[in-house]
Amino acid sequence: MKLNMFIDGSWQGGGTNQTRQIVNPANGEIIAEAAEGTTSDVNYAISIAKKTFESGIWSEKPAEERAEVLLKIAQKIDEKQEELAKLETLDNGKTLREASYDMSDAANCFRYYAGLILAPHGETYQVPDHMQAMVVREPIGVCGLIVPWNYPLLMSVWKLAPALAAGNTVVYKPSEVTPVTPVKLFEIFEEVGLPRGVANLVMGEGKVVGHAIAESHDVDMVSFTGGTETGRHIMRTAAGNMKKVSLELGGKSPNIIFADSDFETAVDYALFGIYAGAGQVCSAGSRILVEESIQEAFISRFVERAKKIKVGPGLNPDSEMGPLVSEEHMKKVLRYIKIGQEEGAELASGGYRIVDEGYDKGYFVAPTVFIHTTPDMRIVQEEIFGPVVVIQTFKDENEAIKLANDTKYGLAGGVFTQDAAKAMRVIKKVRAGITWVNTYHGTYNEAPWHGYKQSGIGSSLGTYGLDEFLEIKQINFNLQVEPIGWFKN
Ligand code: NAD
Repeated sequence: MKLNMFIDGSWQGGGTNQTRQIVNPANGEIIAEAAEGTTSDVNYAISIAKKTFESGIWSEKPAEERAEVLLKIAQKIDEKQEELAKLETLDNGKTLREASYDMSDAANCFRYYAGLILAPHGETYQVPDHMQAMVVREPIGVCGLIVPWNYPLLMSVWKLAPALAAGNTVVYKPSEVTPVTPVKLFEIFEEVGLPRGVANLVMGEGKVVGHAIAESHDVDMVSFTGGTETGRHIMRTAAGNMKKVSLELGGKSPNIIFADSDFETAVDYALFGIYAGAGQVCSAGSRILVEESIQEAFISRFVERAKKIKVGPGLNPDSEMGPLVSEEHMKKVLRYIKIGQEEGAELASGGYRIVDEGYDKGYFVAPTVFIHTTPDMRIVQEEIFGPVVVIQTFKDENEAIKLANDTKYGLAGGVFTQDAAKAMRVIKKVRAGITWVNTYHGTYNEAPWHGYKQSGIGSSLGTYGLDEFLEIKQINFNLQVEPIGWFKN
């Protein structure tokens, strides 16, 4: 499969004709060759996006017509769901079941923003001075969108759908590891007749292509999802022209299990919280905080079930957890497992690469559980982004909250208890943007996705996700047109 970039409505290779091999993480086989973009490819794409924005062909199109295009995109994603899900699994490694959910979420995200852009927005204000004050929302201009590999299509759609609904033009970059479904999405854009130059796809290395997007003075906003360190770099780079910056970053989210929780429900969601997507989920419940009085029973049941998770190629219908996305990432996760052991944490389960026959060329890591951890350990503080959970224990509510917040991140958190008032007290104290009570991981297009602390700036999804891609303009309309007389002569 050859994957090209899409700029000004035409498919093209990179300026230097170099390509990058795209690998199936389940067996190490090459599945595609992707065009490798350069800084000049990016700058060309930005100039097209700028020209197209200024032409008004999209930004001034009636919202109803933009919504119609978005609805057609949603329809096409649904029609191609099986093909897209299979490609997502081949490229990212996640199970087909997970990939299928992602595809329907992606289609519904386009539908949601097609509807939302038609909802009334803008406000009027009662102000003095015979003035009618009002606020209107306008597209920002050229938006640079940069996304990671963990949800190659869905993370892209969380940005593309609201950015396009709002009337912006975009220069979009997928992760260099997972460009397959993003290219398919741009084929859909072409099929449904999105005007040329509105959405431009560039591919390649973050340090080159991503950096050029963040740096350009012709980009009015950069919306980024990825690691916190990369986010910091993007923020600094974007300062040159003070472009708007929106960041969805990493996490090390606490999942707090009280002794009075429904035991089997808590174990079940704790497993789902960390091992869904092989732990490569930004909101993963990667720190389980369990009340001391049930720690033995909890750990024993959790480990018993973790050992039974069927790890295997995502396309195999029996697989419950796929491989890690790349050899490089697997090595990083295995390094963290070694660090944990060196720090003195105890491995209660997993902790190794699976190299059985049929698995040896893939990047499979067994579901891993660390116990006897302390808050200062690197495996407790740093985002591992793999199927590795650390279990911590607490004596009472206050200690649970203190441990939960002992992190530089603030993306997500969960609490399990049958005491409703306690659940509310605790979740309100957790310094994180996405929280769950007696559940974990549910994500809805209608509700905002937002990180506290070093997990991000700005929001995705919901009405907040659309506002990210809009400027607000104050208009003061004088109802009594006569001189003000401020100066006497
Ligand atoms: P990453 O930061 O390495 O890369 C993300 C994107 O940024 C890629 O497209 C990459 O090419 C690009 N990039 C890399 N260096 C760059 C640079 N110097 N300038 C501009 N762009 C650059 O992240 P990743 O490994 O692809 O993804 C995993 C991370 O993403 C995890 O930390 C995870 O928590 C985070 N994530 C967060 C959310 C959220 O909503 N908060 C969602 C998904 C993933």
